[in-house]
Amino acid sequence: MNIQVITYADIESLEGSQGHFKVKVRKRARSVDPLRCTGCGTCVESCPVIYQPVPA
Ligand code: SF4
Repeated sequence: MNIQVITYADIESLEGSQGHFKVKVRKRARSVDPLRCTGCGTCVESCPVIYQPVPA
């Protein structure tokens, strides 16, 4: 299986058919290098923004 997860991105266009898709993806700017982040959570403790999930 050939799957690549691209987070914080939007699909701009999708063409083709099963097995031959062509997808145009716009990646949003990040402040963190995803290849270096270990997910330790230290930055969350210092972040001034309080995340509040939107009720479903
Ligand atoms: S502090 Fe930890 S979680 Fe935050 S960006 Fe750095 S490595 Fe990632």
